[in-house]
Amino acid sequence: MDKTSENFNTAALQTIPGRSGFDYLVVGAGFAGSVLAERLANVLGLRVLVVDKRPHIGGNAFDRHDDAGVLIHPYGPHIFHTNSAEIFEYLGAFTRWRPYQHRVLASVDGQLLPMPINLDTVNRLYGLSLTAFEMDEWLASVAEKKEHAKTSEDVVVMKVGRDLYNKFFRGYTRKQWGLDPSELDASVTARVPTRTNRDDRYFADTFQAMPANGYTRMFERMLRHPNIKVMLNTDYREVVEVIPWQRMIYTGPIDEFFNHRYGRLPYRSLEFDHVNLPQERFQDVGTVNYPNDYAYTRITEFKHITGQRHPTTSIVYEYPRAEGDPYYPVPRPENAALYQRYQAEAERLSDVTFVGRLATYRYYNMDQVVGQALAAFKRIAKAHEARAQTPRVGSPALAD
Ligand SMILES: Cc1cc2nc3c(=O)[nH]c(=O)nc-3n(C[C@H](O)[C@H](O)[C@H](O)COP(=O)(O)OP(=O)(O)OC[C@H]3O[C@@H](n4cnc5c(N)ncnc54)[C@H](O)[C@@H]3O)c2cc1C
Repeated sequence: MDKTSENFNTAALQTIPGRSGFDYLVVGAGFAGSVLAERLANVLGLRVLVVDKRPHIGGNAFDRHDDAGVLIHPYGPHIFHTNSAEIFEYLGAFTRWRPYQHRVLASVDGQLLPMPINLDTVNRLYGLSLTAFEMDEWLASVAEKKEHAKTSEDVVVMKVGRDLYNKFFRGYTRKQWGLDPSELDASVTARVPTRTNRDDRYFADTFQAMPANGYTRMFERMLRHPNIKVMLNTDYREVVEVIPWQRMIYTGPIDEFFNHRYGRLPYRSLEFDHVNLPQERFQDVGTVNYPNDYAYTRITEFKHITGQRHPTTSIVYEYPRAEGDPYYPVPRPENAALYQRYQAEAERLSDVTFVGRLATYRYYNMDQVVGQALAAFKRIAKAHEARAQTPRVGSPALAD
């Protein structure tokens, strides 16, 4: 087992004298669960039990050194970026940051071209020498005119035209989602920008950086508080009836919480093939996309992202799968409708708060999950304060 997990595996379940059990049971030690556990313990002084069924903290953002000693992201590359100073500063209390701007190339027609599509992508693909001003006009000349962008296909062809859509988006989306872009919500590709300049950074956010010593170290510091106990390798259903708790934060899949009462919410999964190679460098940038060839969608080389120096290098191939760990909620109208039925059930439970990507069935980046958790904490803190000020009949006012 990974060394970082061992410290956390022996959760001593002692409680504070005079008060029994935990104030909060937090299900999931990813961003959503860890932020809330940290705030509940540090700000409100509450006693928190965090349980995760995996053997480590950090959820999908967990990182560790592989057998060769290279820092890898077992659940696929995680690059931190945000426009929120509040979120960046909040996490900065638990890590130093290493500035990092992610770059992605796409393998198209035998060339490696910048992604998102920019001026260089178009000039090199078509052998043109457009200027930034001319690129606007060029895009307008190839863009398809439609009334509304209903699907992912519409969004892209309305921006960059049919040929770029076919070369860069169609195959990638079909592999990634197992669906044609014409069958997917507009939201899937609405996130992908197109640039008329030569900016080849994958993200344009104000803050782009990686935790200097990795995500797992950052999570360890968030959860390092005498009021927080962590139990790993534990499905919350194993302890929910056994260990006393007052309220719950749930960050697992919402349909699972309700025993799939209305049916399963579909997720897209990934299989990761991690490889260590006896060479210092494998590719020129962090990620190379393969929209049209091979069964994998992309290859990522971790040392670009982490800045680690090492005589060998580690890469990961991503193979999209229909079955496996739930990673991406599938954005289709019927799934949103099914989620709403679960959401209505969730709202009826006053002692359980649903937070995070799986519990709210939404594609969220890490910073958005942190933002969602901080917002949930503000609501919880307000309710906590209100309860503390309301004397209970027949008992002293308990500050729970
Ligand atoms: C391949 C991939 C790449 C990504 N890349 C990026 C990126 O570059 N940048 C970015 O910002 N975001 C990225 N993300 C998104 C990022 O992973 C999520 O935003 C973030 O991890 C969500 O945190 P979370 O706490 O909501 O969920 P999770 O990290 O999934 O944590 C939920 C935890 O709950 C636990 N759990 C579930 N059910 C139970 C149960 N019954 N009992 C106990 N524990 C349970 C799980 O084991 C898990 O550890 C990526 C996601 C994927 C899949």
